[in-house]
Amino acid sequence: MSKAQTFSFQTEVQQLLHLMIHSLYSHKEIFLRELISNASDACDRLRFSALTDESLMENDAELTVEVDFDKKSKTITVRDNGIGMTEEEVIENIGTIARSGTKQFVEALTGDQSRDSNLIGQFGVGFYSVFMVADHVTLRTRKAGTEAEQGTQWQSDGSGEYSLETTTREQRGTEIVIKLRSAEKEFLDGLRLRTIISKYSDHISLPIRMRELDGDKPKKGGDWETVNKGSALWARNKKDITDEEYKTFYTTLSYDSEAPLTILHNRVEGKLEYISLFYIPARAPFDLWDRERRHGIKLYVRRIFIMDDAEHLMPAYLRFVRGVVDSADLPLNVSREFLQHNKEIDKIRGASVKKILNELKRLATKDLDKYVTFWDQFGRVFKEGMVEDHENKNLIASLLRFSTTKQEDDKQRVSLDDYISRMAAKQKAIYYLTADNFSAAKNSPHLEVFRKNDIEVLLLTDPIDEWVVSHLTEYQEKPLKSVAKGALDLDEIEDKEHSEEKNKAFDELVAKIKQALDARVKDVRISSRLTDSPACLVADEHDLGANLERILKSVGQDTPTYRPILEINPDHPIIAALKPDADNLDDWAHVLFDQAALSEGAQLTEPATYVRRVNELLSAALPGGGSRIITDF
Ligand code: ADP
Ligand code: MG
Repeated sequence: MSKAQTFSFQTEVQQLLHLMIHSLYSHKEIFLRELISNASDACDRLRFSALTDESLMENDAELTVEVDFDKKSKTITVRDNGIGMTEEEVIENIGTIARSGTKQFVEALTGDQSRDSNLIGQFGVGFYSVFMVADHVTLRTRKAGTEAEQGTQWQSDGSGEYSLETTTREQRGTEIVIKLRSAEKEFLDGLRLRTIISKYSDHISLPIRMRELDGDKPKKGGDWETVNKGSALWARNKKDITDEEYKTFYTTLSYDSEAPLTILHNRVEGKLEYISLFYIPARAPFDLWDRERRHGIKLYVRRIFIMDDAEHLMPAYLRFVRGVVDSADLPLNVSREFLQHNKEIDKIRGASVKKILNELKRLATKDLDKYVTFWDQFGRVFKEGMVEDHENKNLIASLLRFSTTKQEDDKQRVSLDDYISRMAAKQKAIYYLTADNFSAAKNSPHLEVFRKNDIEVLLLTDPIDEWVVSHLTEYQEKPLKSVAKGALDLDEIEDKEHSEEKNKAFDELVAKIKQALDARVKDVRISSRLTDSPACLVADEHDLGANLERILKSVGQDTPTYRPILEINPDHPIIAALKPDADNLDDWAHVLFDQAALSEGAQLTEPATYVRRVNELLSAALPGGGSRIITDF
């Protein structure tokens, strides 16, 4: 393609560009951060590839980024001698958005310009931020290891199109020439550019160079000077690092405009040598639940960047942790496959997890406000640890927080230790109830006898909770028990004597109801859970339960047929008055069943049948009852 050809941007890119140009007004300086970050990535990638193919360095092994400007032509140039791009790669990377859509980006925008400018980095759309300041952009690039004639030139003014042509380029790597809009002339200032570079890019270990200044202009024939500090922050001594430096570095890692909740910086020496610097954010990123999201840990080997997203360094339930691991022992040419089966990585990971869990424990005991922030932002992800991390099961369990029947709001604040410290003297189990949401849980009939006896019950309303309790069967030697499953041991809860005598009187009614409900129930029995409601549904000890069944169905999973047990309350006026030989017993049985399902927040499969039955019973109860006024509706 020697003649220039014109292409249209992908629709999403067009929307994004429109947004860059028209909606983001402040913090425009971050365009430089983004271009330098890309340049530095490109150099890191070249260095990595050159480990196996030295010829890629083309006898020019000193990797640098240059930033230059020219007042007359109103241009800023950012140049690197990194890996460069082929023409296909240019089309792929600078014409489409691969990972996340603009729609999500737009939804995430808050109007707070400082947060929004960080979102640009989070969404991996950094390159386009150049159009916040540019009238026109020319990108020239040549991939390392290709011929000089195989260079590519890309140009665009940020409206709907870009042009591509083949060009000759002696130097490998990428050069981006930005023609500034006239309103953005302020960036044509050497000191201003240097300040921006040190603000955002001091930690980049590669030299970032600018030409010696003559006043505020580049000096003719002047030398190139390195303008970033270029020292890896994590490799420095803790006591020499200011809070501000830690925070700035965090922002470059996370694009989070808020300060992190906590910082963990460690140097490990001995048989295994490495440095770790971890941050726990104070706010969940927009894509915490996105399966494709990048993980937060970068791996370095002796200060040399190896890879982003080193998922083997941190288990999924701690995926919100950001930071760096710098190993002194790993070879430079590690691959992801290598990491998967590497003993050193396993050890680093194990120790890192312990560090983070211990820090969380410290916050939970010494800095409650921070722990509460952590829990509200990341609790639901953290709970996955109960399933994922058997080794630290007990520590994780101690960090869990729940809402309970002893509170009005749905905040998860109670730990298992708090719960145990408040248990009634003869209470043996930790009781919980799982439900779809807090108000369904709180009003569930299963809680009646517990409320009457002032026994606290944990209310679990996150979908993951079902898995948490299936892995956490006991804590501090106390079994966890669902109030909606199996038989209740009332002696643990109530002081009075319980006789089976009274229940016998209901044997016939129970049998008749069971007959009427047939396949809808596994069993019918007299309840010891209820004080106010006539009936409730419970699951057999080892059955799924209604909540888990609902969750599994909602994600399209096949479930074994689950049939609940109907429990009836002999003290309730309806049950007390219901005769086994009543001729509408069939309607009563089904209405009791459906009401029990409704009261725990379930959806009826046949609501119309339910309504018809209720109306039959109501009309029979009217004066002159039994005349069946309403038979249909
Ligand atoms: P991100 O850096 O998050 O991937 P960007 O929009 O900043 O998103 O860049 C898009 C892609 O363009 C990069 O992933 C990279 O493949 C390519 N790219 C951008 N700048 C350069 C460069 N200087 N050298 C090589 N490739 C680059
Ligand atoms: Mg980028």
